[in-house]
Amino acid sequence: MSARWGQVIRRALPYPAAIGAVGVASLGLALLAWVLGIPRVETFLLILVLLVGAIAWQLGRGPAVAATVAVALVTDYFFLPPFRAFGLNSVGDVVRLVTGILAAAAVIQFVHVSRRRESLLRRRKDLLQEVSPRIIQSLDAEEVLNTVAEATLRVIDYQHFRLYRWDESSERLVLVKSVARAESYEHTDWHTVTLSLGEGITGMAAQSRRSFLVPDASVDSRMVYPVGTTRIPESIISVPMVTGNRLFGVLSLARKGARSLSDDDLRLMESIAAQTALALAHAEQYAEAEQTIKALAMIEGFQPTDAGLADTEVDSRILQGFVDLSMADYATLRVLQRDGRYHVGASGGRQSPDKDVSIGGPLTAEQVAWLADPRVTTYVADPESDAKLPDWARQAIQQAGIKASVFLPMRAGQRFVGFVALYWRRPRWRRPEQLRRLQLVASQAAIALDTRQALERERGRADALVELERARREFMQIASHELRTPLTVIRGYASLLEEGSLGEMPPAAEHAIHTLMDKASEMRGQVERMLLLARLEDGAAAQRMTELDLRTVVTDAVDRVRPQVALKQGSVHLELAPSPLRVVGDPERLATAVDNLLQNAVKFSAGPPEIEVTGDRKNGHVRLVVKDHGIGIPAAARPRLFEKFYRVNDPELNNVVGTGIGLYLVRQVIEGHGGRVDVASQPGQGSAFEIELPVAVEGAGPA
Ligand code: ADP
Repeated sequence: MSARWGQVIRRALPYPAAIGAVGVASLGLALLAWVLGIPRVETFLLILVLLVGAIAWQLGRGPAVAATVAVALVTDYFFLPPFRAFGLNSVGDVVRLVTGILAAAAVIQFVHVSRRRESLLRRRKDLLQEVSPRIIQSLDAEEVLNTVAEATLRVIDYQHFRLYRWDESSERLVLVKSVARAESYEHTDWHTVTLSLGEGITGMAAQSRRSFLVPDASVDSRMVYPVGTTRIPESIISVPMVTGNRLFGVLSLARKGARSLSDDDLRLMESIAAQTALALAHAEQYAEAEQTIKALAMIEGFQPTDAGLADTEVDSRILQGFVDLSMADYATLRVLQRDGRYHVGASGGRQSPDKDVSIGGPLTAEQVAWLADPRVTTYVADPESDAKLPDWARQAIQQAGIKASVFLPMRAGQRFVGFVALYWRRPRWRRPEQLRRLQLVASQAAIALDTRQALERERGRADALVELERARREFMQIASHELRTPLTVIRGYASLLEEGSLGEMPPAAEHAIHTLMDKASEMRGQVERMLLLARLEDGAAAQRMTELDLRTVVTDAVDRVRPQVALKQGSVHLELAPSPLRVVGDPERLATAVDNLLQNAVKFSAGPPEIEVTGDRKNGHVRLVVKDHGIGIPAAARPRLFEKFYRVNDPELNNVVGTGIGLYLVRQVIEGHGGRVDVASQPGQGSAFEIELPVAVEGAGPA
């Protein structure tokens, strides 16, 4: 209650104050005139009018009128002759009074209008001061636009707000924000509108970088309306957004009614546009940085090393990256396949087309020749006006209602690996930086795809090699196995012949039989080696471990080599420990190992082989030494002696047959038994191969 009274008092107070002020001033003036003896003069009136103006400025129009009327009445009635009557005696008096009233009214009205305008400007300034920081601070372009649209509404009551951005690549103004607050504006799809420089008021504002105020758009020939829009009486303001000499776009405002927007509104919009441009520049720089980081992360994600990923997965990752980066509504990635065509590897986007768009078919090189031109780095197409667009692209674009598209060729060096097509359903504006970034990412994607394909080819080759190797081992295993049986038969008969069990041999045949036996043994050794190698490499055949006396293995091996030694008139000296040399092992493999050492001792003796074989225990190990007095091994060759296929490079050894797998097998077998093998040698003096095997633990059965 008291608040309402307070308000009434506050409203009423200026009236007595104004009347009082004019009364006091009038009295003062009258006194001054009386003292100075000046008659009632026009000066008096003039001063009074100025005073009234001041009151109107300070206290408002109402109090000023009230005070003027009151003082005029009182002074005229009481103080001006004839006293106690209004002295309207002549026409002159009436004219004087009317002139006075008109002058006072004019001053009051003038002051009133100026005052209102000033307070409006002040209010707008306050509002601007409040919203400016919000416009400037935002780092998100969309937010900037929203803030600007909203802030503008608070200072100008518009019916349609539009913000166009300048697309440097297509040199057109593209509408990015439209706020329609009246039905008459809502029926048009403003977002499909793009304008060229000089087209309509907006285009003219962009071209001249000057702002325009159209008082009545319905009769202005410069206006351009979208097809199907009816012209209505409205005022339009178009203001370019420029910062640092760069055109960002144009801000356009429509308000219903002719002459509904004023020059003041124009000034205001200029200030808003300048701030918007600045804010957009900030937002853009921020977005640039953000996009660059995104692009880098994306490029990093392209690393083609991940062989586990399916091609389709890689393709869709690449595509997704492009969609994220470009905000495309729809996108396809085409990759060159072996058939020489560009197949769709992936497609997607934020809004895939509603209709089933037939852009999935593979394309021939001719169909994409326009993109394959090495001069094309990015191809920005305005689908409606682009004559170069091939039919397949145009058809798809039309079906999907696409309004903007970008094609990015993917090149790895000279190769045109594929391309990405990005589509938008609304006209887009882009900066050259954005296109450059997309292009960079495209070339990185190309390299990734290309490397991946190369890796795949390589992998295919490696797979083939592995398969070949497997077939070779299998063949070796089968072949050596098949050779073994007939060899045993041959050796059996040869041995019978040698012993004379099949009857007396003519002396000439005896040497032949010895050679036969020798070569059969050599062949057997070779077959055994092949078989063992195949088994070891296959890894499938397990060792057949059993507890055994190494002396038996060694004695048998020595017996097997004796015929060869005898043929070369050499001798084998065997010295074995008196007690069993127990080891856990595969008897067959151990036998092959010992065979190899013995055969080498025979092979690599220039003269008659003199071989000493010792089997004993040393340092808790079973030790076997095969020593010869042959040609020896050069020190340089010793470290590689046990490698597969290694043979000492010595012209003198050219006639010694061999494959270089013997010692490799020896080491494989011995190390497979938990032992080790070593060699000591003096070139020209001979070599001693020493094998050490773990002693079988008493009672512990075979593993
Ligand atoms: P291969 O005997 O089929 O050549 P090995 O693996 O058994 O293959 O031997 C590899 C090489 O080591 C031989 O070519 C030979 O030069 C050398 N070598 C092996 N044993 C002896 C040895 N007892 N005396 C001298 N050289 C040897």
